[in-house]
Amino acid sequence: MSAIDLHARPSKDFEAKLAETQALLIRAASEFSPLTQASSLGAEDVVITHLINSLELDIPVFVLDTGMLHKETLELLERTKATSRAAVNVYQPVHESVVQFVKREGKDPMYRSVELRKACCGIRKLEPLARMLAGRSAWVTGLRREQSNNRGEVPFSETDDKGRTKFNPLADWSWNDVWHYIASNDVPYNPLHDEFMPSIGCAPCTRAIAVGEDFRAGRWWWEDEKAKECGLHVHEDQPVVSMIGARE
Ligand code: SF4
Repeated sequence: MSAIDLHARPSKDFEAKLAETQALLIRAASEFSPLTQASSLGAEDVVITHLINSLELDIPVFVLDTGMLHKETLELLERTKATSRAAVNVYQPVHESVVQFVKREGKDPMYRSVELRKACCGIRKLEPLARMLAGRSAWVTGLRREQSNNRGEVPFSETDDKGRTKFNPLADWSWNDVWHYIASNDVPYNPLHDEFMPSIGCAPCTRAIAVGEDFRAGRWWWEDEKAKECGLHVHEDQPVVSMIGARE
């Protein structure tokens, strides 16, 4: 069964949620420039990119290519670049930093300790994210409250730890809403979602989840739950998942 077969069922108030999301994106685009969408090409992010394109908003899309993405994600990236009206900008880690890190720690050091995993995220994710966000006053993400306990309070807009406005236009969407939108609008999505990977990151750090497991259980599954963020969406007053631990 595909993710659409399994999940595409709208909430009763889906149309109202969609209207609010569209209004928020329109307002964000009119009030903030330059504004960008940070996309991991996951289900939420393809919905937002589709909304940006259908509303013809001036919001370029930013994708982090960590060098460790699944081939399915890279294929979706190419398809998105070819079809998106909005510009799709790809940021990669500094090559020399990756080479030195791999030389020093080996190919998959993330399994050896939380510190090494966070160091890898720092080089491959946080540094390019910081480069992309430099000079920007606002960005758009696909965070939803339902994604994990850590994200239960996600607001529609907030101020990040660098004083930028962060818009989370799907904050109150359910997973079923996301798939209803994808199905209704024939939005291309990562086929790994059909293989029970609701949250998709780098290949070595993502696995399929079992029935009843938490939404993000397949991310860094070997670690304690509290460490499971890479640092892209944390505040400096959250020490457990701060910058020492480098979306997403
Ligand atoms: S998610 Fe895994 S492979 Fe990707 S940057 Fe973090 S530790 Fe490295």
